[in-house]
Amino acid sequence: MSAPVFSIIVPIYNEIVCLPELYRRVKEALDSTGEAWELILVDDGSQDGSTEAIRVLARQDERVKPVIFARNFGHQVAATAGLDYSQGKAVVIIDADLQDPPEVILELIAKWREGFQVVYAVRAEREGETWFKTFTAKLFYRIIYQITDVKIPVDTGDFRLMDRKVVDVLNTMRERRPYLRGMSAWVGFRQVGVPYRRAARFAGETKYPFRKMLRLAMNAITGFSYFPLQLATYLGFLSAGLSIIFIPIVVILRITGSEEFVGQASTLIAVLFLGGVQLISLGILGEYIGRVYDEVKGRPLYTISEGPEDFKKSK
Ligand code: UDP
Ligand code: MG
Repeated sequence: MSAPVFSIIVPIYNEIVCLPELYRRVKEALDSTGEAWELILVDDGSQDGSTEAIRVLARQDERVKPVIFARNFGHQVAATAGLDYSQGKAVVIIDADLQDPPEVILELIAKWREGFQVVYAVRAEREGETWFKTFTAKLFYRIIYQITDVKIPVDTGDFRLMDRKVVDVLNTMRERRPYLRGMSAWVGFRQVGVPYRRAARFAGETKYPFRKMLRLAMNAITGFSYFPLQLATYLGFLSAGLSIIFIPIVVILRITGSEEFVGQASTLIAVLFLGGVQLISLGILGEYIGRVYDEVKGRPLYTISEGPEDFKKSK
């Protein structure tokens, strides 16, 4: 088999109902290019039988390559593993639930052929998502855009095409809590966006509960911005500044015998406010220290129970 020109990476967590349709549509789109391709299905510790469904697809079609995780590591790590195993000259990351239509890959490829090295798909419209998800997502992308030095394009997910050159650089960035959208903006190169309609989920329900979304947002912010750390400094200056203004006022009031600022309430408010600011600052520090600690431990990003080579042997 000739080396693939295109690698399609799909992180999969309990997506058994989507898999056959995903394979069918990816195959149809990619076959129309006339080039060799591979479909890397990364099983992120599924418990619904997706693992076996992936094996079945791989047995039918040798272009399908299974990467089976030993447990759930999360979507970003699954995509990273896909990048590690990919061999194509252009590599595409796409969701399993068909919210990112596989046909759009052809548009990404067209831009790549024009010479762009990162082609990211921009969600011009979203179908079938709650207003809460749409609203929080829009807000989040704009906040992160404001507070990071690297400009991460707004309303883009992980659905994107990357040139081999870019993938090779990404593969040297072994961050324990990867945020691929940020990392692929950070590397530079020639980048361009392609707008698309984000469809509703083909079947099943979201595998990104609020807790995981929050984690992703935290990783994005701590991975690409020091703004929260600086916030503690700003708040410190603010309260120190206020106290400098208030000290002479209180002294003067005292000398002139005014009864202003007497009572416990004002003291209590000041103490609670400062206590809150300090605890929040500690928590923010903790987030960054946790990141450093994760890096220092140097554990592998993921563990594999079965890779494409193991699968070939066992077939
Ligand atoms: N996913 C994963 N590991 C996880 C959670 C999700 O590999 O722990 C995969 C999931 O199977 C899907 C993609 O990540 O292919 C995006 O997840 P989902 O569609 O549930 O997220 P949403 O579109 O609702 O944000
Ligand atoms: Mg989805």
